[in-house]
Amino acid sequence: MKKLLDKLYSTNNLNEEELLYLLNNLDEEGINYLTELAHKTAIHNYNNSVYIRGLIEFTNYCSRNCIYCGIRACNKNAQRYRLTKDEILECVEKGDKLGYKTFVLQGGEDPYFTDEKIIDIVQSIKKKCPDCAVTLSIGERSYKSYKDIKKAGVDRYLLRHETANKNLYESLHPNSSFENRVQCLLNLKELGYQIGAGFMVGIPGQTNEDLVKDLLFIKKLTPHMCGIGPFIPHKDTIFKDEKSGTTKKTIIMLALTRLLVPKVLLPATTALGTIDSNGREKGIKAGANVVMPNLSPNKVREKYALYNGKVSSGDEAAECKKEIEDRIKSIGFKVEISRGDSKVL
Ligand code: SAH
Repeated sequence: MKKLLDKLYSTNNLNEEELLYLLNNLDEEGINYLTELAHKTAIHNYNNSVYIRGLIEFTNYCSRNCIYCGIRACNKNAQRYRLTKDEILECVEKGDKLGYKTFVLQGGEDPYFTDEKIIDIVQSIKKKCPDCAVTLSIGERSYKSYKDIKKAGVDRYLLRHETANKNLYESLHPNSSFENRVQCLLNLKELGYQIGAGFMVGIPGQTNEDLVKDLLFIKKLTPHMCGIGPFIPHKDTIFKDEKSGTTKKTIIMLALTRLLVPKVLLPATTALGTIDSNGREKGIKAGANVVMPNLSPNKVREKYALYNGKVSSGDEAAECKKEIEDRIKSIGFKVEISRGDSKVL
């Protein structure tokens, strides 16, 4: 075990069989050693900086039906909302005052937000805050749409691949194809976006073999960022009685990803902070180096309910800057509010 982990640390690579061996056999001692190596790798590439992104969840209308997700189109119980351009700009202003230099606009796939509207919003943000980075996370769009939006000044795009097992992907996403998801990521990369892929851990039906596929997919794609979080059930989905992914498995996947792609930006996700009140700290100690506190107006935070119990207060809330900084400092890291571009080329 130790030999394999040392090999991963020194070569930043392992094959399918070796990764599966790790996932099937890691014990407590192995996990401690793995996280120690991942931590060393993060320090080597990014020092002890943890980057902050202000997250603006600007619409929960969605035309898709991802079967695990609380804001899926068919969920009649979801209370839908859209922020106006002015409301989005107020969030940016709030973040700007706090010194945040990256804004992530995330939403369901909402046809209301045409390319024209998105371009107008992005240009207005850039006008208000010229030195900030704007990240979009609004799902699958056409090549032309990604191209036109890029011209408005968007810097980054987050589109998790969710799972690299095509069959599992297509069973979780009705009327969607895994190939298209991957093509979108390739298009975004070609167009010059810094891209974020990523996956859920512990989604029903997922095996260790599937998680190995995720790791190899990430290794091959080498995205600038990789979002990894536990699956958490939502009460209005068919997975309502399923178990969440675990902290332990998520930490293992974070650490392995850090070692396979040493320069990747790796968020300690809200989902990890939701299943475990110290989840984000545990993630950071295992190689994660980004947090994305919520900048959305308080009145909509509960409505962006992707899963049960999603936290949006305390150190998940961007306005609690001091609390966020204290928690990060308490584990020996420092908060970095600059743009924090990825070192993946
Ligand atoms: N429409 C955008 C944003 C989707 S929501 C897109 O398609 O990329 C952001 C992420 O939340 C998803 O990529 C998914 O990985 C995660 N998510 C959704 N439902 C979840 C659940 N029940 N448990 C954990 N994560 C979930």
